[in-house]
Amino acid sequence: MAYRWPADTDFALLELDVLDRDCPVCGRMMYICDHRYRYFHTLDGPMELVCKLNHCPDPDCPGHAKTKSPELEIAIALPKLAIGWDVLCWIGHRRCSRHWSITQIQAELLDAYGIKLSADAIADHIQRYQVMLAARQQDPQSLRRQYESVDKIILSIDGLQPEKGHETLYVVRELTQKRVWFAEPLISATNEEVQRLIAKAKEWAASLGKTVVLWVSDKQDAFVKGIAAEFPGVTHRYCDNHFLRDAAKPVLEADSHAKVQMRRKVRGLRKIEQAVLKHERASAEQNPAINDPEATLTVSTESVNPKVTEVDSACAVVLAYCTAVRGIRNDDQGGPLNPPGLRMTAALNDVHDSIQRNLDAKKGGLQKSNLAAWPSA
Ligand SMILES: [Zn+2]
Repeated sequence: MAYRWPADTDFALLELDVLDRDCPVCGRMMYICDHRYRYFHTLDGPMELVCKLNHCPDPDCPGHAKTKSPELEIAIALPKLAIGWDVLCWIGHRRCSRHWSITQIQAELLDAYGIKLSADAIADHIQRYQVMLAARQQDPQSLRRQYESVDKIILSIDGLQPEKGHETLYVVRELTQKRVWFAEPLISATNEEVQRLIAKAKEWAASLGKTVVLWVSDKQDAFVKGIAAEFPGVTHRYCDNHFLRDAAKPVLEADSHAKVQMRRKVRGLRKIEQAVLKHERASAEQNPAINDPEATLTVSTESVNPKVTEVDSACAVVLAYCTAVRGIRNDDQGGPLNPPGLRMTAALNDVHDSIQRNLDAKKGGLQKSNLAAWPSA
């Protein structure tokens, strides 16, 4: 659908001429025969582009029936698009490099540049960008340039599932240059299909004239067989990450078990909080001053009954402890090198020590009766 511009759009005008005006057939000087008007967004604002179209003046020359467009037009915007290259690249970069969602891209284009595009249009632009990016990534010339100074190549293959239920995307990467060579979705990863990918990697390496010294993978059956068939004698190793994950499985299982036990022991936060809040309300009713916003603000000064202040701050301390412990209980991040259960133990011990210090510093009184309800870590 054609892009609809608001009636009051302020376009910057740019006129383009054909640079080489010799007729490509007979060499005669060509004339301007028509104009093409284009309107599109750039990051600097809306632009009106006037392209002067040329043709050969000789009606008998085949160059007469064909018009020539200004050479530079394609460097400013792709044909028929309502955005220039700068906007297309901006969109593609936000999507592919920053992983922004289409909605996010749409909102930011409007906020930062006043460019209003539909979600469908942005999806189309992203697809175009991806096609160009893939072509660029696999461009043999640029690949050759990148590998000029490289002697030995290390390849890896792995299957990634973008989302559950999707077909698996098999990715071949070269590790010395940290570059994805190619990726293909395989509906069924039979040994033949996988071997075809490995053979393709072999062709690439051969066309670069480089030796593959090592393959790295998770060593699933199809990889082991395919690599052995296409690269006899080349070492095939476990990928660090997969190796560590497999080796760490029993550790993580034990860690997860410990976590469950700690969670079972350290609980009842809600009950403590409810008791504290109830206590707070009761003391507020007894001392209406505490409901006065000014009194609350100056709660630590002597303008308020010191006993009330003490009760109030004690309650706040208990609530803060509850918040901290809840955070510790819910901490779920970390891999085998930094297991969450170990961190949980350390954090709970810190809390325990901290409470103990409070108790030691101030034996008896209200704090003790509150804190006594704390389960120990
Ligand atoms: Zn001509």
